[in-house]
Formats: sequence, structure tokens, C-alpha cells
Amino acid sequence: MKDVIRTEKLPIKLWLKENEMEEGALEQARNLANLPFAFKHIAIMPDTHQGYGMPIGAILATKGAVIPNAVGVDIGCGMCSLRTNLTHIETPKLKEIMSIIRKTVPVGFNRHETPQDEVWMPVKKENLPIVEQEYKSALYQVGTLGGGNHFIEIQNGSDGYIWIMIHSGSRNIGFTVANHYNDIAKEKNRALGEKVPKDLAFIPEDSEYFDLYWNEMHYCIDFALANRKLMMERTKLAFTEILPEVEFADFINKPHNFATWEEHFGESVIVHRKGATRARKGEWGMIPGSQGTRSFLVKGKGNAESFESCSHGAGRVMSRTQARKTLDLEEERKMLTDQGVLHAIRHRGDLDEAPSSYKDIDEVMANQEALVDVQVSLQPLAVIKG
Ligand code: 5GP
Ligand code: MN
Ligand code: MN
Repeated sequence: MKDVIRTEKLPIKLWLKENEMEEGALEQARNLANLPFAFKHIAIMPDTHQGYGMPIGAILATKGAVIPNAVGVDIGCGMCSLRTNLTHIETPKLKEIMSIIRKTVPVGFNRHETPQDEVWMPVKKENLPIVEQEYKSALYQVGTLGGGNHFIEIQNGSDGYIWIMIHSGSRNIGFTVANHYNDIAKEKNRALGEKVPKDLAFIPEDSEYFDLYWNEMHYCIDFALANRKLMMERTKLAFTEILPEVEFADFINKPHNFATWEEHFGESVIVHRKGATRARKGEWGMIPGSQGTRSFLVKGKGNAESFESCSHGAGRVMSRTQARKTLDLEEERKMLTDQGVLHAIRHRGDLDEAPSSYKDIDEVMANQEALVDVQVSLQPLAVIKG
């Protein structure tokens, strides 16, 4: 831990210095610490920045309530990584592979033209009204990347192997579930005259909506895992088409926007991780940097104070608008081409995803030495952005 902030109620424990945090994110962290049902302390990861209600890169444990905005709107968003047995890949071949992936994985707002096989979908339990409503449409969305910072990246691992990393979430189905229950929480909180900090409406455990939200949220986490898995299958097919001898191993698939029941400090609590991943002792995870810097595969140390968590990336240093306004297009492109990355910065509008809009990943890693052990570092070779 690098710093502690005292509040009226619970402390905030930070894996970066307080003065390295934006004022907006600090205020959001203080709001979390003062929630009546927050448990023990708030943990802030080194990649933190302001989010919607709760900072990205934060962990909130609670007793007796769940907060939809503490999970995030992209429920189950996360990363998966796969190791290939390739030790080298020639650029023309890589370009061919990327172009096949672009044909089989819709990006941005695009979805498939035909519904995908239901075997890819998580099995539905009873009583999932929003999932039922969105299910048919989700069949067109499973295996699609989405927009923003979602990516498919081919990387050169320090272990000598070529790796594939995919970042995406639960697409429109998760978004709809998140908004639906956040609206209900807001309405119910208001009706009860609850004073709730901005954008942190909660659902009490004894409310009829608790199980509904919980089950639908967990369906969306599973859907996001399935979404990444299907994109990984399509990516594998692209590799196999160009390099028939290729083999695959070591698949890791983890969410960074989710809530689960866990045991911490001897009690059973709800742990919300928003832009944070679980890092139990020996558990594999990934911490991406950007399309122009290294990413890392790590093993958790099971650090109790972080609620056994670690950062989910480098985190932004500036907003998307600020990045598009202030970064230099040619400079960012040059930085990427000099490294030989087949990158995704074409015009000014792409600058919000430029490496300089993210924090220095080496500093972020140094700040969490107590949380994870680095196993493999990954240098980007080619990236597709949403
Ligand atoms: P988020 O889930 O909050 O949207 O972002 C996750 C993290 O992914 C960011 O904090 C950033 O460090 C990382 N990231 C964003 N774009 C890329 C990319 O193109 N490649 C890699 N390797 N990492 C990225
Ligand atoms: Mn996402
Ligand atoms: Mn994400």
C-alpha cells in the first residue's frame, strides 16, 4: 500500500500516492468510504481514474446491499489471453491474419448478420426478465468486439511465444441490465428518502430486486466470458487458416467489472470490482498497458488488504476529449510504427486510444508489487480496436 486517506467513516487504502489521483476520483472514493454498508475499507488500484459514480480501478466490499454502478455499465467486461506455440510471426502473415479476424469479428456498433449458434450462449436460469427480453438480439452480439478501448491484440511474449489478448464485455445485454437496475435502485432509494451519493444508488439485500439484479448481472458476466471466448475461437481459426501448424494452450479469461460473494477478514461480503481483477494467491491475470506499451501476465499474491485484487490496466491519464484535442497525431503514430506495431491510430479521432492517453504501465506495475508477481511481459505486434 502506498497511502491511506482517513474519512469520517472508513479509510481509503491506495496503491498509488494520494496526490497522483484526480480530484474527481478522490471525491468518488470518499463517497464510497462513507456509505453506511461499506465494509472495512475502500481499495484503490494504481490505474485508478474517475468513473461514473465509483472510480475505475476501485474495490468496494459491502454488507447488505449491491450497487449496480459499482459493477459498471459494461457488466463482465474483461480480458482473455491465449498462448500460441509460435515463436515468431512474419509481418505479411500477421497482416493476413488480422484481415481475416476483421471479417469474422464485427467491431464498433456492428453485430453479426446472422444469429450465432446458441451453444456459445450461457445457459439461462429462471427469472431473468431483461435477459429474456434481450436474448434474441444477444445471439447477434455474441462474438463481437464493441467500441472504445476494446481490442484484439497479437503480442510477443517474454517467454518466447506469441500471445493473443482480447478485451471486451457484455455488449448491449449487459448495458441494458445495468441501466435497468440502476434506474430501479435510484427510484427505490428516492422513494425511501435515502440520501445517496451521486450515481451510487443501491439495492438492499432484502429487496425483491436484489436476486433479480444478482442473477441477471451474473448471466451478463457469463455472457461476456462467452463473447470473448467466441472471438478467441474466430481468432484461432484465422491463425490456423494462415499457419495450419499452429497450436494453442494456456487460456485465461477474467472479468474486471463484477460483484461476487467472497470471504474477507473472516466475513462473507459482496465484493464489487470496477476496473479491477481478482488476484488470489497463484491466480493468473493480465494487466494490459496500451497498444504501444507492454502488457503483463501476472500471478496474484492474495494480498488481503486489496481484497485479493490488482489493477486491470494502466488507466487513463486524460479524458478521451482531452486526448483528441491535445495529443499529436504524427508523434503518436511514429511512436507506434517505430516499434513495428501494426496499430489502430489512423486519424485524430483515434487519439483517445493512443499510448500517451494512458498512464505509464511500468509505474503502475511498480505500485502493485505487493499484489502480483509478473510472469510474462507482452510486447504489442498488431491490434484491432473497436
Ligand atoms: P477499461 O477496461 O477501463 O476500458 O480499460 C482497460 C485497460 O486496457 C486500460 O486501462 C489500458 O491500460 C488498457 N488498454 C487500452 N487499450 C489497449 C490496447 O489497445 N492494448 C493493450 N494492450 N491495452 C490497452
Ligand atoms: Mn468494456
Ligand atoms: Mn474493460
